[in-house]
Amino acid sequence: MMMQTQSPSHELHTLSVHALSQALHAKQVSAVEVASHFLARSRAHANLGAYVALNEEATLAQARAADARIAQGQAGALEGVPIAHKDIFVTKDFVTTAGSRMLQNYQSPFDATVVSKLGTGVPGGAPGAGMVTLGKLNCDEFAMGSANENSAIAPVGHVTPQPVRNPWDTTRVPGGSSGGSACAVAAWLAPAATGTDTGGSIRQPAAFCGITGIKPTYGRASRYGMVAFASSLDQAGPMARSAQDCALLLSAMCGPDLNRDSTSLDVPAEDYSRTLNDSIEGLRIGVPKEFFGEGLAADVRTAIDAALKEYEKLGAKLVPITLPRTALSIPVYYIIAPAEASSNLSRFDGVKFGHRAKDYTDLADMYKKTRAEGFGDEVKRRIMIGTYVLSHGYYDAYYLQAQKIRRMIADDFQNAFKDCDLIAGPVAPTTAWKIGAHKDPLADYLADIFTLPGSLAGLPGMSVPVGFGAGGMPVGMQLLGNYLQEARLLNAAHRFQQATDWHARTPEGF
Ligand code: GLN
Repeated sequence: MMMQTQSPSHELHTLSVHALSQALHAKQVSAVEVASHFLARSRAHANLGAYVALNEEATLAQARAADARIAQGQAGALEGVPIAHKDIFVTKDFVTTAGSRMLQNYQSPFDATVVSKLGTGVPGGAPGAGMVTLGKLNCDEFAMGSANENSAIAPVGHVTPQPVRNPWDTTRVPGGSSGGSACAVAAWLAPAATGTDTGGSIRQPAAFCGITGIKPTYGRASRYGMVAFASSLDQAGPMARSAQDCALLLSAMCGPDLNRDSTSLDVPAEDYSRTLNDSIEGLRIGVPKEFFGEGLAADVRTAIDAALKEYEKLGAKLVPITLPRTALSIPVYYIIAPAEASSNLSRFDGVKFGHRAKDYTDLADMYKKTRAEGFGDEVKRRIMIGTYVLSHGYYDAYYLQAQKIRRMIADDFQNAFKDCDLIAGPVAPTTAWKIGAHKDPLADYLADIFTLPGSLAGLPGMSVPVGFGAGGMPVGMQLLGNYLQEARLLNAAHRFQQATDWHARTPEGF
């Protein structure tokens, strides 16, 4: 191999959010330089299909504004550091599609709260972190999926929809639904990205692409401006290359938004960086036996077992626990999430915004044709299931039963947390599968088994890289905490990342 001397700007993409922020504050590099560098990389690696929208002019204008604030000594916590957003967050500088033909070319008049908080701040509120938006990232249509194979949008550099590719093996999926986010961060096309997690969509793609991601407690980050999938489950969170970076991002994203999100928690934002280095001596880590059963692939199990041993070396104690209703989380989730989706998606009727069918005879025909053309197969499947379980005569048998079991699943966690501080297990039963391998949607649903229980309970959860399985594919370990225990999760993940270098490994060719 030829040795190359690289100018500092060639290495900008290898810097963490933390390091970029320091370099920007110290004026060693400008926000415009950093943004231009990532934009060039994003275009050069368009084959991965990570980005669905770039708007160079808007990004550079944001970067110039960040540079001006740095020059004036008014820099926000992450001033000038670039970030890319899952295309489920509405943005006024970029189109927002939610991966759907229904919203192709949709232009939002406002930014989602999370986008504002990471950017220049919520209008009329406190200044934001000052991050610069690089663009929008591919995702499954309305965040429904586990492989990012359900997007109806052609990525940047392509004319037809393409699967997002896993940078570790481009014949494999990056996970979903935040597949573009995981891909972009793993391939160094963005130092960090936002994701959303309804049933695992931050944790699972983070695991599949070997990066770190955290879904906070339900209600911790505002849902305002997140295109709704299942409102009682949807939650935003950061995806980055370390727990340290996730801590910085999550601190900026969270906090009450009571006037705009009725389920926003009235709990002040925290500085998660403060406790990152705390000792984890004596930390009790619960290991649920249901997470280590038959369906778990041997290569995933080996990596998780080794990580648990590492935690013991760091002073943690492993406690066997049980989450007896783990298997029920699949039918429960796949009743509740479609039920809420069918209600949320009723707004896409061709009248107010989004796609409208060209030829129709009357209003009912317009609704029908608009929705038939606008929604993809998976979305239609969920609307049908959701409408069915909410219909008279089936509501009690399915929806109400599911709600009851949801409560019992949450109770199981509270029982478990009597004996432990955190829970650890695999994120997914396998590593990333081949693009096109899951012919039956049920195969995708079953793969969500370990992420759904925490989602149904509304608990914070994260994915931490812990090794590689067959074919060199990354394995992610899931850490779940009790309500509002994000600081503890990030602390445990950070200590692990200080003792290991799994999170620092990168795929070849990027
Ligand atoms: N895979 C799950 C689903 O398809 C979860 C998706 C998500 O978290 N957005 O619904």
